[in-house]
Amino acid sequence: MTKLCDSIDTLSMAYLDDELAEEELRDFELHVTDCADCKARVDGDRARMADLRRRLAPPPAPDLLRARLVRALDAEDASASREMRRQRMNRFVLPGAASVAAVAALAVFVANRPGGSSAALTQEAIRQNTRTAPLEVQGASTEAWVRHYYRSDVAPPRFNDASVHLAGARLASIEGRDAAQFFYQLVTPDGSFELRALTFDAHGVDLDGLEAVDVDGTALRVDHRDGQNLVVFVGRDGYAYLFTSRELSLQQLAGLVVHSDLVSRVQAGRVAQ
Ligand SMILES: [Zn+2]
Repeated sequence: MTKLCDSIDTLSMAYLDDELAEEELRDFELHVTDCADCKARVDGDRARMADLRRRLAPPPAPDLLRARLVRALDAEDASASREMRRQRMNRFVLPGAASVAAVAALAVFVANRPGGSSAALTQEAIRQNTRTAPLEVQGASTEAWVRHYYRSDVAPPRFNDASVHLAGARLASIEGRDAAQFFYQLVTPDGSFELRALTFDAHGVDLDGLEAVDVDGTALRVDHRDGQNLVVFVGRDGYAYLFTSRELSLQQLAGLVVHSDLVSRVQAGRVAQ
C-alpha cells in the first residue's frame, strides 16, 4: 500500500477524465504498472464509464435522463467522497448528434422525486403544446406580436445556441389560463429539430407530478410523456415555460433551457436587487 493506493478512488476518476497534471500522470501510470489492485480499479472504472457513455450516446433516447436520475438517487446514500466521485460520473456525456456545445457538461442533481399526481394542467399543457395548429405569426415580428397580443412583459425565450431559431407563435389557452406558444427550429448538421415552448401564468399550479432536478444550478422540472421530452422552467414572475420536443433528448432540451435568456433574466433580476 502506498499513498497512491489510498487515493485511488479520486485518482482513478481524475485519470480517466484526463485531469491529472503531467507529473501526477507519470507517477500514476508508473504505479498502476506494478500495483494490481489499483490497475484493477482503473480497469473497472474505465469499463463503467465506457458502459455509461455507450448507454448515453444515441439520441434521441427519452429514458437517458431517467437513467442518470436513478444513478444520482443511488448516490444519495453514499458517503461524501463517493458522492463527489459519482457527481463527476453524473456529468453528461454529449450525445453524438448534438451540435449544441453548451450541453456538453451539465451537472444534474435530483432535487426530489415526483410527488402527487395533480398533473391535469400539465397534461393539458403538453396536449396543447403537441397539437397541430397554424402559427398566428411567423418570423421577425413574432416578439412584438407576442407583446401586443399576449402580454407586454412576456417575450419568447432566446437561446444562446445560435442554431436555434424562433419560427413563430400562436395564442393558446390551458384550463382557462391564457397561454402563448412559441415554435423553434434547431438546425444542426444532423438535421432540423422542432422545439416548442408554452408559457402561462403558473401561480397556484402544482408541478409536483414532475421530477424536480437541478441542472447546472438551475431548478427545472422534467418528464417524458406521450413521446415528448418535457422541461419546465418557472420564472420569478411566476410564469411557467414548458418546453417540449419529440426529437431532442432530455439532456439536449435541458441544456438549451439552462443556457437560454430565461435563466440569465433571472440572474439579472438577482443582481438588480
Ligand atoms: Zn496501488
